[in-house]
Amino acid sequence: MKRRTLLAGGWVISMDRAIGDLRRGDVLIEGERIVAVAPHIEAEAAERVDARDMIVLPGFIDTHRHTWQTCVRHRYADIDPQIYFAEMLGAKGAAFRTEDVYAGTLLGAVSALDAGTTTMLDWSHVQNTPAHADAAILALRDAGIRGIFAHGWPLIEGSSWMSGSERGHPQDICRLRKQYFSSDDQLLTLAMAGRGPEMAQRAVWLQDLRLARELGIRSTIHMGAYARNAQVRAIAQMHEAGVLGDDLTFVHCCCCADDELSMMADAGVTASLGVHCELNAQGIGDIPFDRLLAVGIRPSLSGDTETKCAGDMFTQMRHAFAYYRSWMGGGHSRAANAPPTLTLRDVLEFATMAGAQATGLAHKTGSLTPGKQADIILVRGNDLNLMPVSDAVGAIVLAAHPGNVDSVYVAGRAVKRHGRMLHIDMEALRERALRSQRHVLEEM
Ligand SMILES: [Zn+2]
Repeated sequence: MKRRTLLAGGWVISMDRAIGDLRRGDVLIEGERIVAVAPHIEAEAAERVDARDMIVLPGFIDTHRHTWQTCVRHRYADIDPQIYFAEMLGAKGAAFRTEDVYAGTLLGAVSALDAGTTTMLDWSHVQNTPAHADAAILALRDAGIRGIFAHGWPLIEGSSWMSGSERGHPQDICRLRKQYFSSDDQLLTLAMAGRGPEMAQRAVWLQDLRLARELGIRSTIHMGAYARNAQVRAIAQMHEAGVLGDDLTFVHCCCCADDELSMMADAGVTASLGVHCELNAQGIGDIPFDRLLAVGIRPSLSGDTETKCAGDMFTQMRHAFAYYRSWMGGGHSRAANAPPTLTLRDVLEFATMAGAQATGLAHKTGSLTPGKQADIILVRGNDLNLMPVSDAVGAIVLAAHPGNVDSVYVAGRAVKRHGRMLHIDMEALRERALRSQRHVLEEM
């Protein structure tokens, strides 16, 4: 018989509209899956987890994180963005060793889990050699996260890959598909971190998209960050080429034109907004929450790069909520059909179900629905900053932080309990991260 765990007596936010919220409810896990969500469940031979005083909800989903950069956290917010591009996507990125990719990816993924993010798309544009991909995949695996490894390009001769590029996506992605991702029914899946018309020649981006589709994987592409990129009208170009589809996620979209967002919506393209980074990245453009919602796209959220912001999803949600209310309240929106306000639950949905949709995993995660994978977090509602909880969704979106996350389950496996990460040697992780940081900042 499969292992059974009963999360008993919590305030359950299911994010499944058919189930709703339960002021006092139980969640039964069997093996990897959720088998029941109800006010009271009798479960024979189940480990009983006392979830009274806990808020029980689906794990968050981060749809765009440059995880490999985590060991140089918080370094680039206070300086000219051109320096970030020149260093991290230039000389330093080119000199990243496999152990730096491993250390950054492991640290980022473990921190994500610690903060209640059970699924993360690792946007890994540091594929200097095939061994760099192996290192990132190993790190995601060692962290125990549900991960989408989004394979990008090398940073050796980085500009030849990122500006008018004539180089097709590295063929190593075909090896990865065979070697690590022969099944889509596993904890780690594969995507292409692609370039599109802002970075590559037409024949190249067409060929890259064809390759991703031949491999049966999704693609994620940065779009319309900074005004200079908007002039390319990349989405319009892809629309005219007839290649937009629901297997694509576009990141940022800040300066993309309204008609381009409509083209995205018509084709089922999803969006990822790295809210905290976008707010910090002066000049990237206004975050297009209102314009995306006006055309019917419910954006997912992402931590982008911890070199410029906090990666956790509490931060993204809190800033998304405040930004939208301030933006709309201040009369800044020019999107006629944008909803006049956002609710707390809208924002929580961006961090859960919208993320599941943007990673092609809505059948597996994003809500507490019987049959889905048991990706579940417990947040301590009796911590000083949250108690006494009067509105559980409000507590999560407005005030909770990673330190309030008591327990985290990924596919039914506990990776955090009683506020402590399990299975991870924290001292070794810290040393590994420090060593890598020293190399990246000092020795390079
Ligand atoms: Zn990015």
